[in-house]
Amino acid sequence: MVTNLLLTFVICRLLSTVGLTVDPTELLRLGIDGQLSVDAAEVETASVDFGGMSRVKPLAVLHPACAEDIAGLVRAAYGSSQGFTVSAKGHGHSINGQAQTANGVVIKMSGSKVETRLISGKPAWPSIFLGEKFSYVDVWGGELWIDVLKSTLEYGLAPKSWTDYLYLSVAGTLSNAGISGQAFNHGPQISNVYELDVVTGKGELLTCSEEQNSDLFHGVLGGLGQFGIITRARIALEPAPQRVRWIRVLYSNFSSFTKDQEFLISLHGMPASEKFDYVEGFVIVDEGLINNWRSSFFSPSNPVKISSLGANGGVLYCLEITKNYDESTANTIDQEVEALMKKLDFIPASVFTTDVLYVDFLDRVHKAELKLRSKGLWDVPHPWLNIFVPKSRIADFDKGVFKGILGNNTSGPILIYPMNRNKWDERSSVVTPDEDIFYVVALLRSALDSGEETKTLEYLTNQNRQILRFCDEAGIKAKQYLPLYTTQEEWMDHFGDKWPLFLKRKIEFDPKRILATGQRIFQPSF
Ligand code: FAD
Repeated sequence: MVTNLLLTFVICRLLSTVGLTVDPTELLRLGIDGQLSVDAAEVETASVDFGGMSRVKPLAVLHPACAEDIAGLVRAAYGSSQGFTVSAKGHGHSINGQAQTANGVVIKMSGSKVETRLISGKPAWPSIFLGEKFSYVDVWGGELWIDVLKSTLEYGLAPKSWTDYLYLSVAGTLSNAGISGQAFNHGPQISNVYELDVVTGKGELLTCSEEQNSDLFHGVLGGLGQFGIITRARIALEPAPQRVRWIRVLYSNFSSFTKDQEFLISLHGMPASEKFDYVEGFVIVDEGLINNWRSSFFSPSNPVKISSLGANGGVLYCLEITKNYDESTANTIDQEVEALMKKLDFIPASVFTTDVLYVDFLDRVHKAELKLRSKGLWDVPHPWLNIFVPKSRIADFDKGVFKGILGNNTSGPILIYPMNRNKWDERSSVVTPDEDIFYVVALLRSALDSGEETKTLEYLTNQNRQILRFCDEAGIKAKQYLPLYTTQEEWMDHFGDKWPLFLKRKIEFDPKRILATGQRIFQPSF
């Protein structure tokens, strides 16, 4: 009751701040168990993200105690005559303020201790189903992937599809797609979810899956938070391997590099022993990068001299592959890797191999994060650009961008790897290029105030614009991943044929357009 009174007080204050009114007796009926805070430090934390380029203060922050708290808050926003906006924030690792909102409430999904229950009332976390044919885990939407991994490993299981970095929330990545080097084989994370609980923009808490409320299910996956707030996700699991053979090889020739990557992802239907489990790659345009955070794999005492490897136009390409194994396959791993490596056309002297625990491989980027944090290089602006490029135009992208626009200083790693479109569900909200194979190119740059013009935020932001313009002018039908647009025309163009369905779902599930306004797709109706 005390909490309810506090909540009423806070929401009334919040609404009067923006000149809105709401009936306090309505709010008393919400019965929220969590905490709604207007503490300056909490509001400040909710106003920033990893990108460090957008700062929007919400009016309050909700720490939910359960899914019903979220439903209650959204119902209050939807039901009041003038309303306020509501944005879920996972781990705040967006680049451009996607989890921020002005004139509204940010729901802190990660870090809150939430008891996850199935709508039936049964406790859902940790709740692991071990089946003969398939296994899954039910997790709170704000759970971080690292915690999901640690919990499922206790049962000898792990999710199948990953992101490179695990300190991201489950719902935060499912709102986009969730990709890494396993996507060629298992599809993105959104292809590995069986069921969701979602609070729609009308404040209804619904379970959805392929069979139940399927339009909501497909809409929410890759839906940029537009149709509802994910409170629970049922994630597919597989037996967790114990160890990983982790290999990097270099190429100076782009077409050999992409030919090999495409060959490796074409093996997705083969038995596990005849394919790699992870296929990624990155572009090296400057020697400094080789000792960069993502490249810590290379021994610093034995730095690779790019000049000694005959880089074509100053650019090298690194293929990164792994093979999982455990005790039962330890005696065949060497032969399996060798048989696959024989089919590849990399520079022979450039093989770097290591062998690590599965968990250490999956959590690799966190180690780099800790190093960067210790040097004060983590909390800097990150003008990242992620693009899906159709296979037919990836060579043009190489010429125009890697060997053209970028010059010889990238300010961060550039990932490039192909994926099979047939592993993506057409019914989800995410958009990909219209070809069977497409590449992700991720320019993961950090802006520094070091006095060098090419490292500044302005320079890198302009270069991103130049890259997008180049794609447009060259007719490369690329699609942004983690998209950023500011006008509805641009969003319509981004979604293409999927726009009418996206709009229809918005009207149905969030008619007042109060959710995830930080994506800048729709304006709230008040
Ligand atoms: P937030 O930034 O908190 O939110 C992102 C969006 O999702 C917002 O619009 C928010 O409103 C919405 N949202 C959050 N929670 C919910 C919810 N419960 N229900 C509905 N909507 C919600 N992506 C990849 O695919 N692969 C990678 O390898 C990868 N690596 C990354 C590495 C780093 C270091 C960083 C910073 C990002 C990386 N990303 C990667 C991008 C990342 O997946 C997205 O930015 C993701 O949205 C971040 O998750 P988050 O929990 O921080 O989300």
